[in-house]
Formats: sequence, structure tokens, C-alpha cells
Amino acid sequence: ASIDAAEFIKSQIRTVPDWPQAGVQFRDITPLLQRPKTLRMLTDLLVERYVEAKLDYVAGLDARGFIIAPIIAYELNVGFIPIRKIGKLPFRTVSESYELEYGSATVEIHEDACRAGDRVVIVDDLIATGGTMMAGKKLLERLGATVVEGAAIIDLPDLGGSKLLRENGLPLYTITEFS
Ligand code: AMP
Repeated sequence: ASIDAAEFIKSQIRTVPDWPQAGVQFRDITPLLQRPKTLRMLTDLLVERYVEAKLDYVAGLDARGFIIAPIIAYELNVGFIPIRKIGKLPFRTVSESYELEYGSATVEIHEDACRAGDRVVIVDDLIATGGTMMAGKKLLERLGATVVEGAAIIDLPDLGGSKLLRENGLPLYTITEFS
């Protein structure tokens, strides 16, 4: 049943060529969010995966992780942690920078977002190079948390991010992939 769910979810992702720049095939999840059926299929898969995981928090990566992660947290009756792009969090933060194809990016977390030993899953819409998810893992680990798994709707395996993350000790759950 879950393979059918994954296939159906994949069929509802919209590909927008050359956005935000030439050569990028943007994988747009908004059609999945738009229909109650696919929104529920998507969130049910993630909730079922983590219902026995004894999580303390679900963390979401800015910005599309913020759409999915709180729904999962609500259903699991655990808290939500935002991992934000630099300059958005008001309290004291810790930050991690990582390289992009052109330039670099920085993400932040509040230093009191969780405590040592807390069990956390990190959620985003898509894994490309894996840089964002890796930075999120590092931030949570600097706070002493155990990152149980990274979860994303979409993997782009040809970019090598999911392989790199797994090689660096982060188990991953992805629902579908595009090559
Ligand atoms: P990365 O850090 O390279 O794994 O990039 C992942 C982040 O960039 C995620 O937060 C995605 O939302 C976004 N992203 C990268 N490539 C795409 C793409 N082709 N379609 C949609 N989002 C993307």
C-alpha cells in the first residue's frame, strides 16, 4: 500500500523547468499540499514511520520543511523546532555555514531549542546536495541532540546528497526520487 502511496505522491509533484534559474528542474510540492487526499497520504506516511520512534521533537528546515514538520509534530504530540536561514531567529543562536554551487549559506537554531539527549527527526521537502540537511544535523548535535533520521519527500540521488548523508551517519527516509 505504501508503494502505491509513494507512486501517487510522485505523480502529483509538479516539475517546473528552468526555475529559479536555467538548468534547474524545480520539484514543486504545492500540488501535494493543495489536495486533502495527498496532504494526508504524505503526512500519514511520515507519522506512521515515527510513531514508535520515541521522538522529543520534529525539526523543520526553512522554508518548505516548515510546512510539513509541524503537522507531523502535532500528530506525534511532540514539539517542533525551526532551523532557519540566518538572521531570522530573535534569541541566542548557534549557526552552521555550508557551501553552495555559488557562494555559501548559513542556517541557525536557538541555543535552547532542545536539550542533550533529545531525539529529533529533521524534515525537509527535498534533498539535493544534502548540504542543508547536513547543517541541520550539525546544529542539533551541537545542542547534544540525537538525530534519529532525516526525512524528505523527494531525493535527487544523482546529486549525491543522500549518499553523503548516509555515509556521514544520518539514516534517511525519502518517499520518492527523481533522476
Ligand atoms: P541541498 O542543500 O543542496 O540538499 O538543497 C536542498 C534544499 O534546496 C531544500 O530545502 C530544497 O527545498 C531546495 N532545493 C534544491 N534543489 C531543488 C529542486 N530541484 N527543486 C525544489 N527544491 C530544491
